[in-house]
Amino acid sequence: ETITIQELSNRMAERGVDVIKLLMKQGQMLKINDTIDADMAQLIAEELGHTVKRVAESDVEEGLFRIGDEDGDLVSRPPVVTIMGHVDHGKTSLLDAIRSTKVAAGEAGGITQHIGAYQVESKGQKITFIDTPGHEAFTAMRSRGAKATDIVILVVAADDGVMPTTVEAINHTRAAGVPIIVAINKIDKPDADPQRVRTALLQHEIVVESMGGDTLEVEVSAKQRLNLDKLLEAVLLQSEVLELKANPTRPAEGTVIEGKLDKGRGPVATVLVQRGTLKVGDILVAGGAWGRVRALLTESGDAVRDAGPSTPVEVLGFQETPEAGDRFAVVENEARAREVADYRLRVKREKAQARGSAARGSLAEMMSQLKESGRKEFVLVVKGDVQGSLEAIVGALEKLGNDEVRARIIHGGVGGITESDVSLASASNAAIIGFNVRASKEAREASEREGVEIRYYNIIYDLVDDVKKAMSGMLTPEI
Ligand code: GDP
Repeated sequence: ETITIQELSNRMAERGVDVIKLLMKQGQMLKINDTIDADMAQLIAEELGHTVKRVAESDVEEGLFRIGDEDGDLVSRPPVVTIMGHVDHGKTSLLDAIRSTKVAAGEAGGITQHIGAYQVESKGQKITFIDTPGHEAFTAMRSRGAKATDIVILVVAADDGVMPTTVEAINHTRAAGVPIIVAINKIDKPDADPQRVRTALLQHEIVVESMGGDTLEVEVSAKQRLNLDKLLEAVLLQSEVLELKANPTRPAEGTVIEGKLDKGRGPVATVLVQRGTLKVGDILVAGGAWGRVRALLTESGDAVRDAGPSTPVEVLGFQETPEAGDRFAVVENEARAREVADYRLRVKREKAQARGSAARGSLAEMMSQLKESGRKEFVLVVKGDVQGSLEAIVGALEKLGNDEVRARIIHGGVGGITESDVSLASASNAAIIGFNVRASKEAREASEREGVEIRYYNIIYDLVDDVKKAMSGMLTPEI
């Protein structure tokens, strides 16, 4: 596959001379009628802020995820819940307590395995819990296109209050547009002060019901198993509001929650079915992996014939191990499964090659994407060295903008740039700004992998000026 520079420029509605300049920066001295290969064309197009869709992509992916073909057959489905909160506030304890009191599948006291998600029953209704607490996994999955969580339970320890990771979790959840239920945990402790938690949450624009807001809150003790029923009722109440529905009669689609290579059983994946029903014998693709379902197992190890919407199941029969966050879909036959899997692996390789210079979250590219999409928000994650400068920066950035575009800061925090910041930025197509702080090694690696731009500043004026320029489309891409 090749294309002339002229043709490429035409398709992008860009000037040929600009394309030639970019190619020069790549070390290629070419003229307008010369041809370049598809990879280089993609790289250039992305550099100029275009979203590249190769024809083959729509051919291959077409019809794989058929959103919108479910009218008429929609029935309610259980909510899928993720638990988040600060370290040691009791996320794991809460997950364990809920699991051991309420496991839906299997007999009480039966051996349950950690397969990455489980279901419980409350008042005859099912609720699915994702078994990996914290916002890291949540956001990592989201950055891979998966939206697996309907409701987030935010755990705040009543003796410790709102902490930095609590705030991070709030921002990650908000960026995903997922409703929060607050679980004020450890109320058994003598120094528990639930009221302080409620007040502190106000600062982060979470107004709980008892203070006149609409965020549900429940005081619990994971340790003494107090009010777990109430918490589950709150989840059901919230999910009623969300009117969660899916069509169980179509071929299954969903998200991979966990993937591992098991010595005895081969590749094993826990998947969350989100639409349709997954059956033994189905052929499915997940990312670059495919397989024929040999067996479906619940968290209690029971073999089942099928799994409907919001059900987590272990799938045996993959040829390779899919990754957490991969979306899966059932396809008509093996040939199709191979075709999609091969194609995706190829695209993944190509993207990895092209990435280095085509940062997805670069300020300039984000601007041109914004222009194309007609969206009006310039999304940023801001990290600063001290609270004072952070507030000054956020204040200044929020004042920028006009009717066409304004900055939206989805997360601001004190401290170095972490992998979690990059993950959030990637999931939200945001850029990261660091003021007097650096990125950790992991964060730098993740930013390269995910193509998220990190910009560092030590003068507030420069920072604000750059964003202003980017917003007016004047910032030249860094190459
Ligand atoms: P995570 O880091 O958020 O997953 O927190 P853990 O579930 O590991 O809990 C941290 C510590 O708090 C552990 O020592 C738990 O036993 C304790 N803990 C959790 N929930 C409660 C609770 O409701 N009451 C009391 N007193 N301790 C709790």
